[in-house]
Amino acid sequence: MPIMTPGTYLAKRRAAAGLSIEDVAERISTEPPIPHHDRAAWLRRIEQDVDGLKIREAAALSSVFPFDLDIFVTLIGLHSPVMPAETIEAPRLCQACGCSENDACLDPTTGQGCRWVGPEQCSACDPATPAGAVAAA
Ligand SMILES: [Zn+2]
Ligand SMILES: [Zn+2]
Repeated sequence: MPIMTPGTYLAKRRAAAGLSIEDVAERISTEPPIPHHDRAAWLRRIEQDVDGLKIREAAALSSVFPFDLDIFVTLIGLHSPVMPAETIEAPRLCQACGCSENDACLDPTTGQGCRWVGPEQCSACDPATPAGAVAAA
């Protein structure tokens, strides 16, 4: 399984939060301020790994939807051409939603976190897990 890119990771966490690029562009505050239409284009470039993200910008983004900054930074390292990938351990991520043990999916009714049902799949994304089964487990 190829390691998720930082942009893909952000795109999956955004989608898991139920937000569109436009939603995020609406909510994020950048310093200096970027006009709304430019922000959406900027977010698209980030999700396509065309543009990088400064730590400050990543922190601003993580206040709009939850993702793990450590994992984001680790993924940048893993995809960096100057960094030998074998020196960094790839984080365990759900391939469907990008969640991890650092930021699990929370069941909206019970508030319980998801668990692993496969090497790279969490219970919240498992079609075999009927709604509510996570809480019952
Ligand atoms: Zn998942
Ligand atoms: Zn999950």
